[in-house]
Amino acid sequence: MEALAVSFQKRAKEAGLELLEDRIEKFLLFLRELKEWNRKFNLTAIKDDEEILVKHFIDSLSCLSGVPSKIYQKIRKVIDIGSGAGFPGIPLKIYQPTLDITLLEATRKKVEFLRYISRKLGFERSLEVIHGRAEEYGRDREYREKYDMAVSRAVSNLAILAEYCLPFVKIGGIFISQKGREISDELKKACKAIEVLGGRVREIIPYKLLLKEGELERNLVVMDKVESTPENYPRRPGLPAKRPIR
Ligand code: SAM
Repeated sequence: MEALAVSFQKRAKEAGLELLEDRIEKFLLFLRELKEWNRKFNLTAIKDDEEILVKHFIDSLSCLSGVPSKIYQKIRKVIDIGSGAGFPGIPLKIYQPTLDITLLEATRKKVEFLRYISRKLGFERSLEVIHGRAEEYGRDREYREKYDMAVSRAVSNLAILAEYCLPFVKIGGIFISQKGREISDELKKACKAIEVLGGRVREIIPYKLLLKEGELERNLVVMDKVESTPENYPRRPGLPAKRPIR
């Protein structure tokens, strides 16, 4: 195995993840293509190999620890909202190929990359890439309340994210938002939005990313979908960010 693969396996193990060799190969293919495309288009600010392994791949997989064990086996359909260059959706698909994943992204160039990498990884039949805004697709009958789980990383604050993401989740499903270290103020400001949109915070799970230079503290905010989202949400594109529900 090449040095990078060994390093990735070691880091994954430290994070409590067991990675099979064929999965590691897919992760490394993803890494190489990401770096190649990054030369032409600015897909991600993280460019160093080791940093991609930890800050993108392992961080993306850490949202699995937010899935309550009771529903873990039942999770099939997952949507990643504001997927960017594929985080956390693509690492989740590589790690758990049986998941039926949709990546939603508003920027055309990123969508082109997502479609390309999905083909390269052999996921063209079981991974859907959609180009558009959460506010539009969240109103579309084909996508609304059709998912067991929504995930999102680094897209917006929780009040706005609740309006982007909760409309996609079925009652009984969950929404996991990957957040940084400090979330208490953001969470307080999002309480009303979460309630209005049919969600309820289940738990906050702190976790750490281990880097050579030290640790990065992160949090998963896990919400249950307890009631249907009212018909008038999400509001038109731009409005959730301009006037978050308070
Ligand atoms: N989730 C990725 C990650 O963690 O690396 C990308 C994060 S990037 C900072 C935020 C992404 O969300 C951008 O690619 C942007 O185009 C997308 N985005 C922002 N608002 C959106 C919306 N309303 N609907 C769909 N995508 C959106």
